[in-house]
Amino acid sequence: MILGIAIVLVVGLVALFTTVAPLVDRQLNRVVPDTSIVPGPEAESLHHTLRVADLHADALLWPRDLLARATHGHVDLPRLQEGGVALQVFSAVTKTPKGINYDRNSDRTDNITLLAVAERYPPRAWGSLYERAIHQAKKLNDASARSRGSLVVVTSRRTLEAFLRRRGESRAVGAILATEGLHPLEGQLDHIDSLAQAGYRIFGLTHFFDNDVGGSAHGEAKGGLTPFGREVIRRLDTLSLIIDLAHASPALIDDVLNLSSRPVIVSHTGVQATCPGPRNLSDEQIRRIAAKGGVIGIGFWDGAICQPTLANVTKAILHAVAVAGEDHVALGSDFDGSTTVPFDAAGYVRLTQALLDAGMGPEQVAKVMGENAIRVMASLLPER
Ligand SMILES: [Zn+2]
Repeated sequence: MILGIAIVLVVGLVALFTTVAPLVDRQLNRVVPDTSIVPGPEAESLHHTLRVADLHADALLWPRDLLARATHGHVDLPRLQEGGVALQVFSAVTKTPKGINYDRNSDRTDNITLLAVAERYPPRAWGSLYERAIHQAKKLNDASARSRGSLVVVTSRRTLEAFLRRRGESRAVGAILATEGLHPLEGQLDHIDSLAQAGYRIFGLTHFFDNDVGGSAHGEAKGGLTPFGREVIRRLDTLSLIIDLAHASPALIDDVLNLSSRPVIVSHTGVQATCPGPRNLSDEQIRRIAAKGGVIGIGFWDGAICQPTLANVTKAILHAVAVAGEDHVALGSDFDGSTTVPFDAAGYVRLTQALLDAGMGPEQVAKVMGENAIRVMASLLPER
């Protein structure tokens, strides 16, 4: 009897969550189309030649098939192909605090547990952040295996170069796995190796709260690298894994720039000069990241550019190019990151038009839209 009631309860809860997850997805990942810029023939034909690359999207978090075109959200294979995307970074969100905000969050609550249950993650991933990251990697790898070569997981310089050579006119999309925060390490250095084994190549150090690696821009203490964090940076450098300083506190950015022997990326960000805020980069930070050979991805959502419009994406890109130089600026959409954006992955040609309108030449547009990110990924990924 009690077992019967328990089963009915569990089935009921799962049914409830299964309807809730798509609703949450629909509500949190919206497009408010910016129709102020209509792509003309010049932009269309330039765009057709571009290899678009985006350094950050959270599509793996949501209950969608990456290979099927959805009527909501921002990223899936058909839309990436329509948008001319050659390389997409897929990030794993494994824990976010309740009442999430940009100023100050603790690590004591978690929104993702309910989503993990609702999306029928394996029970071992309900309570383990490490297993959640492993599950999201599996989701991408499974989609890739079903895609008949249209979605290719890139794990090394060689696989990236081979993929780009083969890609030609095929419109296949390369995918790189990233963590959004290193709380999935659960304090264990050897989890870096296991995550790399699962396919992860870009390691965002913090998300919305301070963790045992270092401080978040939105954490309570907002500190620098912890002693464990210093070991983590050395291990990432040794394994040729890529460090991502998006969401890092200013102290953490300083510590990593001082300690790491390799260039770093900031996968999705804004710039203080066009949109002040705790997660956006100062000119000094932009200069240091560029001087070290890294790249910064400009985001499309309000936290990065204040108002999610094409004009504001363009303004942030122009400022970053003015400060960092045209070789160190890329795209970091934050598509599907619980964001409202002016276009989805199918609509990149609008941004090409906006950049041309702002006076950028075709070569500069090509760099920002993808070539810079591709060059830096090729140089930082493990050789094989
Ligand atoms: Zn983020």
